[in-house]
Amino acid sequence: MNQIMDKIREVLRSNQNIVLVSGSEAMRETGLNGIRAEHIAYDIEERYGYDSDEIVSSLFLTRQADKFYDYYKNIILNKIDVELTEVFKSAARMEQEGRLSAIVTRMVYGLYQRAGCKNVVELYGSAEENRCPECGRIYGSRYIKEAKGIPVCQDCGVILRPGFSLYGEMIDNGRLTKAYNAIEYANVLLVVGTSLNSLTWANMLRYYEGDKLILINTEEASGDDRANYRVYGNLSEIFKYITA
Ligand SMILES: [Zn+2]
Repeated sequence: MNQIMDKIREVLRSNQNIVLVSGSEAMRETGLNGIRAEHIAYDIEERYGYDSDEIVSSLFLTRQADKFYDYYKNIILNKIDVELTEVFKSAARMEQEGRLSAIVTRMVYGLYQRAGCKNVVELYGSAEENRCPECGRIYGSRYIKEAKGIPVCQDCGVILRPGFSLYGEMIDNGRLTKAYNAIEYANVLLVVGTSLNSLTWANMLRYYEGDKLILINTEEASGDDRANYRVYGNLSEIFKYITA
């Protein structure tokens, strides 16, 4: 395994225009649940009487804003001051050194930005950018988490719209185009925390035609052999090694 990791380190060291595709396992390491929170699906069903796909929808927000925001506060924002793992810190270092050109993620917590990354494409938007539909004022995740009941705009008293796309809503076209472009023109594609066959990424990853596809994930999945280099285990430990 160390031989592969040495090789990966060499590829990362000797190349520029590296694009990082960050899947949900990178978020799991911080203890955050994510929007879907698949790993606690049963508890969610038990607590809300609906599954996450039903709750995180535009229709549900309109009809049951109280339940929607309870889910937002307690499931999506289960933690608020998360500690950044090595994956995020390494990404920021690589970006500062001019080697990493973009990060594409479906995470909504702004963790890469918090680590200092600048060029982050958040496909689904961000929990740090909840918006008043009336005046456009933006509210961060802390405001949502600490609101008593349903969070409303301080100026207008109107119920806020979450900063991320709800199920059934279109993904922002500008973000999508940016993501496709970054992946298509990447020199090295560094995929972390997702399998290559995952529903979210499979289609998008096909745009990469280079021969430096690196996959780092917690466990092996079918379809992974498309990667030119791959290694499995604790993401942060691997990242620390390959970016040192
Ligand atoms: Zn407002």
